[in-house]
Amino acid sequence: MSNVPEIFGCKVFNDSIMRARLPKDIYRQLRKTREEGMPLDPHVANVVANAMKNWAVENGATHFTHWFQPMTGITAEKHDSFITPAEPGKVIMEFSGKELIKGEPDASSFPSGGLRSTFEARGYTAWDPTSDAFIKDGSLCIPTAFCSYGGEALDKKVPLLRSMNVINKQVLRILRLFGNEEVTHINTTIGPEQEYFLIDKKLFDQRKDLKYTGRTLFGAKPPKGQELEDHYFGVIKPRVSAFMKDLDEELWKLGILAKTKHNEAAPAQHELAPIFTTGNIATDHNQLTMEIMKMVASRHGLACLLHEKPFTGVNGSGKHNNWSLSTNTGVNLLEPGDSPQENAQFLLLLTAIIQAVDDHQDLLRLSVADAGNDHRLGAHEAPPAIISISLGDELTAILKSVESGKEYDHVDRRDLEIGVDVLPHFPRDTTDRNRTSPFAFTGNKFEFRMPGSSASIACPNTILNTIVADTLCQFADILEKAEDFNAALNKLIRNSIHEHKRIIFNGNNYSEEWVQEARRRGLLNLPSTADALPYYVREENVRLFEKYGVLSSTEIHSRCEISLENYCKQLQIEALTMIDMIRGDIIPAVCNYIRDLSTQACSKKQLGGLDCSLEEKLLQDLSVSSSQLYTECDQLEQITWNTERYNNSTEKSRYCRDILFRQMEKTRAIADHLETITGRKYWPFPTYGDLLFSVM
Ligand code: ADP
Ligand code: MG
Repeated sequence: MSNVPEIFGCKVFNDSIMRARLPKDIYRQLRKTREEGMPLDPHVANVVANAMKNWAVENGATHFTHWFQPMTGITAEKHDSFITPAEPGKVIMEFSGKELIKGEPDASSFPSGGLRSTFEARGYTAWDPTSDAFIKDGSLCIPTAFCSYGGEALDKKVPLLRSMNVINKQVLRILRLFGNEEVTHINTTIGPEQEYFLIDKKLFDQRKDLKYTGRTLFGAKPPKGQELEDHYFGVIKPRVSAFMKDLDEELWKLGILAKTKHNEAAPAQHELAPIFTTGNIATDHNQLTMEIMKMVASRHGLACLLHEKPFTGVNGSGKHNNWSLSTNTGVNLLEPGDSPQENAQFLLLLTAIIQAVDDHQDLLRLSVADAGNDHRLGAHEAPPAIISISLGDELTAILKSVESGKEYDHVDRRDLEIGVDVLPHFPRDTTDRNRTSPFAFTGNKFEFRMPGSSASIACPNTILNTIVADTLCQFADILEKAEDFNAALNKLIRNSIHEHKRIIFNGNNYSEEWVQEARRRGLLNLPSTADALPYYVREENVRLFEKYGVLSSTEIHSRCEISLENYCKQLQIEALTMIDMIRGDIIPAVCNYIRDLSTQACSKKQLGGLDCSLEEKLLQDLSVSSSQLYTECDQLEQITWNTERYNNSTEKSRYCRDILFRQMEKTRAIADHLETITGRKYWPFPTYGDLLFSVM
């Protein structure tokens, strides 16, 4: 293993390299841009670009690319070499400030959800100087935002950056109310825990479903799954361990703070958690992490599955999004403080988050909605589709006492005297260990557990930032006008808790009783993507995003459209893959088995009437089931074509969910039954057992 501090960030054009390689005044100006969002002077950009290029070339790069995150959910890149013709037959390596700051990829082949028809097809990418450039596979990658020429966001990053500005502004207003004049900037911090599966690449290659859709569309339940709970935190197997070591090293070289690795609950399932960092950087790093995971896996003869539910019957994969607010002076604002004043501020922020989550359940729900995550949310090992917050018993009791104005039992009276009267000083470490909650306070941060493992975290965080900023704005509006700040603060917190406490639930979110209870409380339950996405364009949501300039009405409509289309396309691809596998592989395999069994029965008869009841019974089941499979497959094909009849994507998505998906389930059940009665050597794909226990 190499020297970690030495290799860490060696492929990143980071602050220390900038300081070492740039003239002092240029470095200072760039730093101002990075920290305060000041525009970059063209002269400065040229000097920076040249230094970047020299560093990249010294480190083996020949190309550069703007690296961006279009609405496909994965990253995009287009590589240009640094070469420029010099004297005849010669080239030199060049890179200008203009090329650094702005790129012009053709936007017309990226999803734009209707923006294309109304605006120019051209798009441009613009450098996000707060996220460091890095070298990957011989190219200098420059993290960029992607917009249309009309300025509409065509990517996941622009709205995220906008939302970070919005929450910065509103939190600062709150801090000023508490007399804090020192802090000048607030960042959201994010630590995304990434779950994934590792299986043998040779087996992966034999499964078209995994290749085309990321999940298995067939597969009978194996004799052993996760019931013994022997995988979670278990000893890491040698091949997996070698993969993880290699992965850590690659991530460290890219300056990614890979920290924790362990086995997860399902066989072949693992997790990697980084140390948290600033929101947009965490988002970039998570995209890179997913990409590097796949790359390193293939180096080890493995396939890394990032789908939310690669295997039915064992746990799916999520991406717990740990989220907090941090000041430029290094204070975590969701860390309960030591003084009553700090606690009052903490309680106000906490109340704002509770209110925001309650008021905008629809937005949080839709921020994690896609075809993959539909298999996970509401299944018995993942958060339900119902949004609620768990605070832990202690903090809940404190909020109750605040609401009722009664003293909190465990509090020493002295703690209540200074500053804000009814707000008690409460102990730290009221950490929650409720693993079933979709949105849990875990001591000094919130953990949003609904995001899916394959999705970008940009959208959930954009929405989280915006809704919390909106509530804080309402709070600041009231408090800034108050004559008696403490009285107004107490009243505000009390009222807010009173009105929004229905969203707090510390119990078991997986239970059926909770579904009933949530209904009684009037909480939203949007079980599928088709139910959730249309909430994007509700009038109050459009108004909210427009008010803060996070998304325009056009951008919201386009995003809603893209997501609905993606959902339908994904289901259509799954259905077509099923049809292909049934007709091309499963039916022929079963026919081979039927033929061999029939031949055997015939020869038994010829031998003088040996007992053929085994063959007869088996043949009966195989014939009936395969004929049923063939019929249901035809039906599936018909339904898949029928989806094209819908022009309206909301209606189409409902059809996909209600009719297409049901038919897929029905068809699969027959195929899975056939798998259990067909001889192993006939079955055309590796089984669940093979896939889940393939890596030693
Ligand atoms: P667990 O699995 O118990 O939730 P982990 O240690 O696996 O705990 O993950 C916790 C994650 O939360 C890590 O990525 C960590 O960096 C992140 N985290 C810790 N503090 C903060 C914070 N203030 N803001 C955002 N994320 C945080
Ligand atoms: Mg966690």
